Amino acid sequence: MTTRPPASKGVPASMPRTGSPPARAPAEDVATGAPARRANDAVGTAASPTPDPAAAASVASDKPARVVTTARSQPVQPPTPFVPVARNANDVEQADLHTLQPQVQACTACALSTSRQHAVFGSGPEHAEWMVVGEAPGEQEDVQALPFVGKSGQLLTEMLRAVGVGRDEGVFISNVIKCRPPGNRNPRPEEIEACKPFLLRQIQLVQPKRLLVVGRFAAQVLLGSDANLNSLRGRVHVFRRIPAIFVDSKKLFRPKFCFTSSQSLTLDLTSNIQPSAMLKLPIYLDNNATTPLDPRVLEAMMPYLTDVFGNAASRNHPFGWAAEEGVDYAREQIAQLINCDSKEIIFTSGATEGDNLGIKGVFEMYSQRGNHIITATTEHKAVLDTCKHIEKLGGKVTYLPVNDKGLISLEELEAAMTPQTILVTIMYGNNETGTIQPIREIAAIAHKHGALFMTDGTQATGKIPVDVQADGIDIMAFTAHKMYGPKGVGALYVRRKNPRVKVTAQMDGGGHERGMRSGTLNVP
Ligand code: SF4
Repeated sequence: MTTRPPASKGVPASMPRTGSPPARAPAEDVATGAPARRANDAVGTAASPTPDPAAAASVASDKPARVVTTARSQPVQPPTPFVPVARNANDVEQADLHTLQPQVQACTACALSTSRQHAVFGSGPEHAEWMVVGEAPGEQEDVQALPFVGKSGQLLTEMLRAVGVGRDEGVFISNVIKCRPPGNRNPRPEEIEACKPFLLRQIQLVQPKRLLVVGRFAAQVLLGSDANLNSLRGRVHVFRRIPAIFVDSKKLFRPKFCFTSSQSLTLDLTSNIQPSAMLKLPIYLDNNATTPLDPRVLEAMMPYLTDVFGNAASRNHPFGWAAEEGVDYAREQIAQLINCDSKEIIFTSGATEGDNLGIKGVFEMYSQRGNHIITATTEHKAVLDTCKHIEKLGGKVTYLPVNDKGLISLEELEAAMTPQTILVTIMYGNNETGTIQPIREIAAIAHKHGALFMTDGTQATGKIPVDVQADGIDIMAFTAHKMYGPKGVGALYVRRKNPRVKVTAQMDGGGHERGMRSGTLNVP
C-alpha cells in the first residue's frame, strides 16, 4: 500500500469511473457486495443530507445494516451480489505490455472493480532495469491512474535518485493489486490471487535486473514469505532469478522515517549504483579481508545453485555437461584475467589451499632437485605456516626481512639463492601494508638460479593488472572473495610451458583438475 490516509468517504456513485462497471447501489460494501458498514458509504450517496438513524446505529455498533432507508423512508433494495468475471488466462499470458494494460483497465475479476475510479496498471519504460512493486493504489493513485504519486511517489523518486536511479528512465513501477481497496484496507487473499497474474506477466515482460519489493503483501506474493518484516530487510532475496530487495512500506512512507528508510534502501542496493550512492553506515573498510558479493556475480551463479546442479565431472549425461560448460567458461574468464591458458588454472577452495598446494606440491615434486625455499617474513600465514610445515619435513626455508616500505632486498634475495633452492615465494601485494613487491625482478633472480617463482596474488588479482607471462610467474594462488566473488572458491595458476611446472597433489580422490586437486568442483 502506498499511503494509508484516514478512512476515506468512499467513491461517490456519481464520479466517473474509467474502465469500471457501473457503480453499485450506495448502501452496499463496495468490495464484497455486503450491506454498508460505514456511515459515509450510506450518507454520501443518499438523497437526503440527513443520515438515516438506522444507518448511524449500524455504524455505532459496527454491524451491517440489513436495510437502509432514505429520508422518504423508502427501503433500498438488497444489493445484487458481486459476480466476478473470470479472465481468459491465455490473454494475459500472451499479452505484451501494450495489450495487457487495457485488460487490466477492463478487468472485473474481483470486487475491487466496483469501487475503483481507475485500475492502476503501472508506469515506466518497457525494459527498465529496476522494477518497484508496491501493494495497492492509494487514494491519489486511484484518482490519477498512476502508481506511487503524491507524497509516497515523491519520496520514492527521491530515494531512487539517491541511489543513482532516475524514476522516469530506469524504473517500472507497479502494484500487486491494481485497484484500490476501499478505505485503503488490506487486500484480501482472493483479490491478490485474482490480480497476481497481471503482476507476474508484467515482471516477465519487463525482465528487470532488480526488484524493489515494498510492503508485506508484495513480499508475500513475490518472496513467498510472511516472515517478520525485520528479517526480510537488509538482504538480497531472489524472485525467479531476479535479485529482490524488500522495503517496509510503513517505514518507507512515514515522513519521520524518511532518513532511516533512505539509508536502509541504500544499504540494500549494491550494484550498478554510482559510487557516491554506495555510502552507507557503518562504512565497511576491510576489503582486504573480504568483499561483498556483487549482485551480478550472484545473478551469474543462480542457475548453478538451482537448475544446473550437475556434477561437472559427470561425463555421461547432460546435467554434468551443462555444469562442465559453466566451469569451462569460468576457467576461461579467469585465464583471461591473468593472461594464461585456461588449462593452467586449477580450481581450489581459496588462496590458503592454493598456497599449500603450490609450496608443498613443489617441495614434494622437486625433492630430488633440492629442498630449499625462500620467502619473506611479511607473507600471509597461509605461506608462513606452510613453510614451517616444510621445515618439519626436513626442508630449509629462508625468511627474508623487509625494509621500512615493506619491500624485500633483491641483493639479499640473490645472496640467499643456493643450488638447493627450488622455490622462491614472495607475495604480490601485501594485505596489511599494500606493498607491491618488484615481482618481475624477483622472478628473474629465481629463474637465473634454476628455481621456480611462486606468488600469493590474492591481494593483487582483480585490483591491479596481473600478467603471469610478462611477470614471469610460475605458480600463483588467488581467491574470488577478495574481488566481489563468493567465498569458498579460488584458483592456482600452474605454468604448463617454459617450463612445464608440476605440483604433487595434496588431496587424493577422483583426480580432478588434471590430477592436482581432487574433489567435486563447487559449481558455482
Ligand atoms: S484488483 Fe486486479 S483482479 Fe481485481 S478488478 Fe482490479 S485488476 Fe481485476
